[in-house]
Amino acid sequence: MTLIKQIFLHADTETILSIPLSRRQPPDRLIWGYTLEGNFSVNSAYKVALSLASDTTSGSASNTQEQGLFWHTVWNHRIPNKVKTFTWKACQDILPTKVNLRCRQVLEDATCEACGLDPEATDHLLWDCQQPRETWELSGIPFDITGIRYRDFKDLLWYLIFTKHVDRDLLALIVTVAWCMWFNRNKTRLGSPRQPSHEILHKARLILEEFQLAHF
Ligand SMILES: [Zn+2]
Repeated sequence: MTLIKQIFLHADTETILSIPLSRRQPPDRLIWGYTLEGNFSVNSAYKVALSLASDTTSGSASNTQEQGLFWHTVWNHRIPNKVKTFTWKACQDILPTKVNLRCRQVLEDATCEACGLDPEATDHLLWDCQQPRETWELSGIPFDITGIRYRDFKDLLWYLIFTKHVDRDLLALIVTVAWCMWFNRNKTRLGSPRQPSHEILHKARLILEEFQLAHF
């Protein structure tokens, strides 16, 4: 009893001491409180983890609102549907990059063909590789592509929308430039020459101008 009082807070001590002891006085043993038998099982632990996760999700209303605002902002861009689809896929990290194809066991070597140095993942392709870095620098778009580590494309857009508060037109240009990088990468894989950064930027601006002239 003294030991219990030393270890636990007063309220807990009372609760513990009010638990009736078995008359048989079996030896002490560890009990897992989430099964009838008191034995640990992976299945029961999984159910506990799921219930904890759902509690966390239901409690984060502001996070859900931000998610809604994020997708609303992305979907309401004045950009062609092909760029919207690309943006959604890039945010979900389901573009058929070499890293994603390797995950699906479609190919073995995921090395980026532009630099020959790193695996061609979405982040590498759109801002980490040398050419995208050059393209973003040349674009004059005022965000620090090199100073911050973005987990994925969604993380990057999230940062631009909620931290940098970039306006809609700039955001439209950013995702269209990213689409042009992806388009250029695909054409290069089919044998076309790699477009220099200024051409990618020019093409992105042209796409937006033509689309906006045709729709507004
Ligand atoms: Zn590369």
